[in-house]
Amino acid sequence: LVVIDKVNKHYGDLHVLKDISTTVGRGEVVVVIGPSGSGKSTLCRAINRLETIDSGTITIDGKTLPEEGRGLAKLRADVGMVFQSFNLFAHKSVLENVTLGPRRVRGVSKADADKRAMELLDRVGVANQAKKMPSQLSGGQQQRVAIARSLAMNPKLILLDEPTSALDPEMINEVLDVMITLAHDGMTMVVVTHEMGFARKAANRVLFMADGEIVEQADPEQFFTNPQSPRAKDFLSKIL
Ligand code: ATP
Ligand code: MG
Repeated sequence: LVVIDKVNKHYGDLHVLKDISTTVGRGEVVVVIGPSGSGKSTLCRAINRLETIDSGTITIDGKTLPEEGRGLAKLRADVGMVFQSFNLFAHKSVLENVTLGPRRVRGVSKADADKRAMELLDRVGVANQAKKMPSQLSGGQQQRVAIARSLAMNPKLILLDEPTSALDPEMINEVLDVMITLAHDGMTMVVVTHEMGFARKAANRVLFMADGEIVEQADPEQFFTNPQSPRAKDFLSKIL
């Protein structure tokens, strides 16, 4: 579904993505881990063109990503993104947050968008919060709304960049449970997270990044119990 081929990205003198090549198959769940500053967020942002790249190609469903224009809007609609900080529209209700994209970008009627949004909010366990404003919700509830909002666009792929790292501990599991269910339902997901429980339960592959490079890729069990590279061993010894 996603093919990333020899992608390079610099910020000035800083080489943040170094010849990154990997693929994400349909229905695959890839967990990206690695030290702070290793380029995980930059890679996610490059996949849906929130960042430009200097060289290499990223194709989604056989299409090379456009730089701009209508193709880009379509691409963004096909690639859902959930960030660390809750980025719901503060002045819109929970329900409106979920219906806005389908109505504006996909041209779905209000009645259809509302119906589908309520199904999705129910699926992530916050249907009873639909009329509230985001600020009236807990962090965990807001993050589940953000997931429902990205699902509302029927994306081909969802990118989640540390979706639980800004949450209080007791709210982490409610969000991870939603993500695990999504993964088991066959959603294609790229997830930046240090939550080993999620990686073990839901990931098909762990991709370990350090210094802008993919240092190691393996299935989660193998990666966590028997990392091959010194950098992965060092990283795991610090977080486990
Ligand atoms: P973290 O675990 O802390 O989120 P990360 O792996 O997501 O880290 P990135 O955010 O991708 O790392 O950043 C990679 C490198 O690029 C870092 O050194 C960072 O300081 C730098 N960087 C990121 N965004 C910019 C920017 N807009 N301008 C300049 N440098 C940037
Ligand atoms: Mg990051």
